[in-house]
Amino acid sequence: MQRFDIRQNAELCDVARLFFDEDIPTAAIVCDGFSYVVEIFDRTFSFDYSDIADSIPQSRQAARLSKIALYDALASLTGEVKPWGALTGVRPTKLVYEALAAGRNENEALAVMSEIYRVSKKRADILGEIIRAQRGKILFLNEYVNLYVHIPFCPSRCNYCSFVSVPMDKKHAAEARLYVELLCKEIRETLLFLNSRGLKILSAYIGGGTPTALDGQSLDSVLGAIGDVGCEYTCEAGRPDSVTEEKMSIMRRHGVTRICINPQTLNDATLEKIGRRHTAEQFFKAYDIAAKCGVDINCDLIAGLNDETQEDFSRSFDGVKALCPQNITVHSLAKKNGSGIRYDGGENLRTAAMTEYAFSHSNGYSPYYLYRQKRQACNLENVGFAVLGKECINNITTMEETVSVVACGAGAISKYVGGGKIARFANMRDLKLYAERFDEKLAGKLEFFDSLYDSAR
Ligand code: SF4
Repeated sequence: MQRFDIRQNAELCDVARLFFDEDIPTAAIVCDGFSYVVEIFDRTFSFDYSDIADSIPQSRQAARLSKIALYDALASLTGEVKPWGALTGVRPTKLVYEALAAGRNENEALAVMSEIYRVSKKRADILGEIIRAQRGKILFLNEYVNLYVHIPFCPSRCNYCSFVSVPMDKKHAAEARLYVELLCKEIRETLLFLNSRGLKILSAYIGGGTPTALDGQSLDSVLGAIGDVGCEYTCEAGRPDSVTEEKMSIMRRHGVTRICINPQTLNDATLEKIGRRHTAEQFFKAYDIAAKCGVDINCDLIAGLNDETQEDFSRSFDGVKALCPQNITVHSLAKKNGSGIRYDGGENLRTAAMTEYAFSHSNGYSPYYLYRQKRQACNLENVGFAVLGKECINNITTMEETVSVVACGAGAISKYVGGGKIARFANMRDLKLYAERFDEKLAGKLEFFDSLYDSAR
């Protein structure tokens, strides 16, 4: 017999947060074989999971059944059900792939999601669409890596931002110059290492921050250090006010094939409230510049932003979709502690209605990758939609963790994926420390990959 105090268990706390936000109640779970008893608020809920235990890998049975027991108890107690049921992890698709790998067919694997993990029918159907969109694109390729390059600068700071982002202003100009110099060195050394190991690049992604916040010369230096990778190559240009014809032509010259221009909303009043310092009109202009260059375009939207109504979101979604970008990504507001957003409690219902709108009005697009974050409004998700054949390989293989990621830049996290193992190596996040410990961390990263690829031989 085992007894868990839910406040002492991070995964169980995550389940409790689905119902109580940060007010985690005192509760305990007692399990004996497949019998689970949940004691909470002077109530007792008993469950017997002997009929479902076989659908869960043995090594994970106790952990997952405890979460299911707590979810079942809280659903009974509150009368609420959650779209992702008892799942609290980042990648729900992984469980579908786990069930497929265990020999189940697609329908059975999706049934596991609803019947075992209590995922709603709607979300299980979305997972089905994603699995079908990813078919043939889930690559387990040991000889390939995804290259990630991080630019931690932005034109200004959005007030929902919880990333490390440095404003690209006069005060930080010298810091930015030094950063670009060191980053280029890191990229060149990293590419030499990949070459020496015979590792090829499956896709490249420059993210941030806002890479296009760099001036033309700095952007040219970073892209020049990477060279023409000859594969899917994304550069984020998240802030429309940072997109110019000069920077687009630099990106094209260096082989960039896909860019992300992210309005987040087309409502100017909201853009002002969230500190984006650009207008919807600037987004349309930036989109036009990029479309003329012939790159694939992704546009991010956020459902649930400050005070936005369903109509605001619908207008944004329809307005972006009318441009026919190859990808649209809909994020559900994440209520992050580091952000400056104040929540009024109504964001959950509004956000849920907005994401439903996106799913029901996404004709011509299919959901092709999905991930979840902690503290997302209404326990929802972020979903990438793509026109058929325009699914971003980087998003799929990085999110599904099927290809190693070799990352350069402050705070960039490299990830080795191979032989059933996943290991990470993080660069220093702080720009000053990134510069101070540059040589040591670069050597550490190359050694990290060297030893893992050696031991995989
Ligand atoms: S553009 Fe992105 S990284 Fe930059 S401040 Fe806004 S949310 Fe943060």
